[in-house]
Amino acid sequence: MVYSINHKASFCKCISYVCSMKTTCKGRASSVAMAGFVHGLSVHGPTAVVTKGLGEMFNQRLPEDLTHLLTWVNENPKHNLLTAVIAKPAWDYRLITALRSLGRTCYIIVWHSDATEDGIARIQAFQSGANMVTNNPEHLHEALQHITSIHGSGNFSCPWCELGGLSEHELWRHQPLYHIYETDKLDAQCPACRKWTSGLTRHINLYHGPTQLVDERTGVFALAVVRRPEDGKFLMVQERYGEGYWLPGGGVDNGESLRQGVIREAWEEAGADIAVTGILTVESFHRGSWRRIIFLAEPVPFVGDRASGHRDNGGAAAAVLADPILAVSGTDSAAARAASAIAAAEASDPLWHRYRCKTLPDVESAGACWVSVQELEALPLRNASEPLTWIPWVAGGGRVLPLDSGAVPEVARVFPDFQL
Ligand SMILES: [Zn+2]
Ligand SMILES: [Zn+2]
Repeated sequence: MVYSINHKASFCKCISYVCSMKTTCKGRASSVAMAGFVHGLSVHGPTAVVTKGLGEMFNQRLPEDLTHLLTWVNENPKHNLLTAVIAKPAWDYRLITALRSLGRTCYIIVWHSDATEDGIARIQAFQSGANMVTNNPEHLHEALQHITSIHGSGNFSCPWCELGGLSEHELWRHQPLYHIYETDKLDAQCPACRKWTSGLTRHINLYHGPTQLVDERTGVFALAVVRRPEDGKFLMVQERYGEGYWLPGGGVDNGESLRQGVIREAWEEAGADIAVTGILTVESFHRGSWRRIIFLAEPVPFVGDRASGHRDNGGAAAAVLADPILAVSGTDSAAARAASAIAAAEASDPLWHRYRCKTLPDVESAGACWVSVQELEALPLRNASEPLTWIPWVAGGGRVLPLDSGAVPEVARVFPDFQL
């Protein structure tokens, strides 16, 4: 069984119950006859958190049943768009694989409080067919908002999953959200402008988003080894195209300082605010045409916007998720117990909550994760040399240079044209 959203109806009244037993549903029947998509959502596991995240969108508890999902998807595959949320303890790789077999357009979200703490689990979930692994209600909400905003009235099809009816901007957001973990399409024709491209992901991002970007490369790169002070774990980016993990960082733009560049890149790739605390190395290759600095940094704790009433509820989410009874109760006493569980979770303030990082895939990465030095050795890495050189170096108390170009003459020598 799934609940569906019919976008031909008004949004706030459009939740209609679709049953595989062909229970009459006028709203759905009319929508299938028309061109737009019918969105289905299935939730597997304790659902309080998910429902909390979805409250404004679906406003009710949602059931689970794989057989009924299959029937629903097969009824009219052109118009049915399924989103599935798998919450711990229903997180089972076989379930992910089974959902993936329903079709490539199915969006599979794994909800798990360890989503940013377990690097191996992230990889396994994506390899099994998940599109997103998260512990952040806002990221969950944002993804679902994007997915359910697609009406099916555009002119373009996605070259990865062949979902049609996308507008230019919908294609721009759909592509990394659904496919950033899959391999890029090289030497491929763009569905929007028909140009042949050397890499379709980058092309769509540069030329078909809401703002045109400039393809600018300075040949200067800034990376960061970001160490969480409480437990000594390090921030790693889950790179796109299934390339494994790597340090946050990237190209410094013209007009940026080296530090500004790495802080921006850490935000874009890992969703983390960082404070740069030192320099590990300065490098120059190919007569200076390719230069790089690697910084040491610390994460800046997340501060929710409590004044606006848009209260962060990641800790609350963890508490409710841990207690399935809360998920199915609607009584006053259940509400009271939920409130006390939420208060307890917020008091304990787990590290993954205090140092939130990226779990919403976009063109920059599939997400990020905190990993220990021991875990690092078991993780697939995009390029092993930098993480395996500098993370053990920092963990072992290796020398760190000060953030002072006067005290580190290599900085001015290698980067005469950039501020530190
Ligand atoms: Zn697609
Ligand atoms: Zn194009």
